[in-house]
Amino acid sequence: MHKRVLVVEDEASIRDMVAFALRKADMEVIHAADARAALSAISDTPPDLILLDWMLPGMTGLELARRLRAEERTAEVPIIMLTARGEEMDRVNGLEAGVDDYVVKPFSTRELVARIKAVLRRAQADGGTGSIESGGLRIDGPAHRVYAGDSQIEIGPTEYRLLHFFMTHAERAYSRAQLLDQVWGGSVYVEERTVDVHVRRLRKTLEPFGLDGLIQTVRGTGYRFSASP
Ligand code: CA
Repeated sequence: MHKRVLVVEDEASIRDMVAFALRKADMEVIHAADARAALSAISDTPPDLILLDWMLPGMTGLELARRLRAEERTAEVPIIMLTARGEEMDRVNGLEAGVDDYVVKPFSTRELVARIKAVLRRAQADGGTGSIESGGLRIDGPAHRVYAGDSQIEIGPTEYRLLHFFMTHAERAYSRAQLLDQVWGGSVYVEERTVDVHVRRLRKTLEPFGLDGLIQTVRGTGYRFSASP
């Protein structure tokens, strides 16, 4: 089955180059020149992945990413952001907007395709099988949903992966570097403080259910999921 990738980029030359490379890699490509076109392109069926340029006319890529994350239908579609060199500083903002990975311009299409495949693989692995239960939380792997008792928890894609890793590796402490390797796949564009950003988001997600204490800080090491205080 061909993976469907939405490319949102206002520069036609980059859009065409990317579309060519992705089609060559057996992916189906749809494209949009701005956020509005992107939203209408995915109104029927969300794509398997969105490649999103940071600088777009009108709504920026970052604003669009936030909006996609906020909508249930697109909340879990992986997003890879394209940024120019000078925009690297805003990486943390992007992570807070729920972006899965970054590719900095100028990039090679080979690198881009490899990165897209890695993110798609990760997204697929999340599909998992069976459900995991611990400390009052339950992950329904096939449905890709998280529950606290009977209440479904709205959770971002990276937080889901992080929680999934924690729950399948409970009661053990992991360093930020280990979590990056395990949850982010050792992406070179992700820094260790990224882990802190997402742990904070995950705790915030669990807080209304009184379950944020499950994600524990292990001083001098990193983090641990534990059902015991
Ligand atoms: Ca642009």
